[in-house]
Amino acid sequence: MSQLFKGQRVIRGYDVIDPSGFDEVVDAGEELLMPGVIDCHVHVNDPGRDSWEGFSTATKAAAAGGISTIVDMPLNSIPSTTSRDAFNVKLDAAKGQLHVDVGFWGGVVPGNEAELPGMIEMGICGFKCFMIHSGVDEFQWTNEADIRAALRVLKGTDSVLMFHAELDVPGLQTEPKGDRVEYKTFLDSRPDVMEVEAIDLVCRLCQEYQVPCHIVHLATADALPLIRKCKQQGAPLTVETTHHYLTLAAEDVPNGATQYKCCPPIRSQQNQDDLWGGVLSGDIDMVVSDHSPCTTDLKTQGSGDFIAAWGGISSVQFGLSLLWTNLKSRGMNIHDLHRLLTTNTAKLPGLSKLKGSIEAGKHADFVIWAPESTFKITEDIIQHKNKLTPYMNRTLNGVISRTVVRGKTVYHNGKFNETPQGKATFRKN
Ligand SMILES: [Zn+2]
Repeated sequence: MSQLFKGQRVIRGYDVIDPSGFDEVVDAGEELLMPGVIDCHVHVNDPGRDSWEGFSTATKAAAAGGISTIVDMPLNSIPSTTSRDAFNVKLDAAKGQLHVDVGFWGGVVPGNEAELPGMIEMGICGFKCFMIHSGVDEFQWTNEADIRAALRVLKGTDSVLMFHAELDVPGLQTEPKGDRVEYKTFLDSRPDVMEVEAIDLVCRLCQEYQVPCHIVHLATADALPLIRKCKQQGAPLTVETTHHYLTLAAEDVPNGATQYKCCPPIRSQQNQDDLWGGVLSGDIDMVVSDHSPCTTDLKTQGSGDFIAAWGGISSVQFGLSLLWTNLKSRGMNIHDLHRLLTTNTAKLPGLSKLKGSIEAGKHADFVIWAPESTFKITEDIIQHKNKLTPYMNRTLNGVISRTVVRGKTVYHNGKFNETPQGKATFRKN
């Protein structure tokens, strides 16, 4: 037995710290204790589109999923987080609503580069831009000149620029042709080459400016050779993919099932297998939810029109269990899970000094869960505001029993701490 702490005592063969001085002592029994999951790609949409999601419901869903920190995307809220003023509006909207800690991404849009240093000063986690229409008119997409202007400002700041990497390729026919209820009609309108061309440009800019660049939600495995080469040449590039690209396949999407629509699209089973290869090799650094819900009407559930439907998949609550269920059959283990969901997702938004591992001096953010237990996703357990999800009725491995944020239990066996314990959290390099 080690003698790490004065007053240490032993219960059933485990080393236990003297409980006096602690608010709460938890015996996790046979369950697994890990640092809380950090999901650094969540669209909370609050304020402005809080009928789609909101800080309270999104963070409750996160807590129920073993997540102790989410990082909120700058778009779909109104205003978008593209200025210091808008960042303050968002921080106000979040106040008193948070069941887990929340960091914030800012946006790079044409002409806002003068706002970036002030937002960094305020503790923004980094920035995101779109290389194609974002889906909402108030968050404008950036061309190469806009991106270069932002990279010049970000150089030397330790901040990161993230890219929605799809480009309209000149001469490429992407007008949807065919039955709009068929998934293939949508898939054919967003071919792999749109991602590959965009990622090629990101890689070149990342190498030229040596500013940390990050590709969000990589969907095509065709870009993996470019990514590998860019990293091998020493460019500060990181890449994420999502639970849906690693779980779902185009061949299995039913007609009219618009809950499967997102951009870039879920591609073939072969592509999914190849993405897993990228996760295994380390070319893909992390896995996130890209939780992006909306109201049912915008998902055109009546008509099943894939082209008109909003693109976004809801899943923040189920990320840990989804990855765990799939990862074992792909030759990975619990250490990979920790790296993909926590270590690397803490690093990207600059939260590693306080989060992402269990160490003295860091926040006491934990998840306690039962890896071998199973559960079924049903509407009554879903905590996010709009319940539509492609994972309905799936049975997953990995039941979350407790989530702890800075030493406070926020979720325990289906029940929440009704006093929101989460805080806004800021980049610390
Ligand atoms: Zn997103």
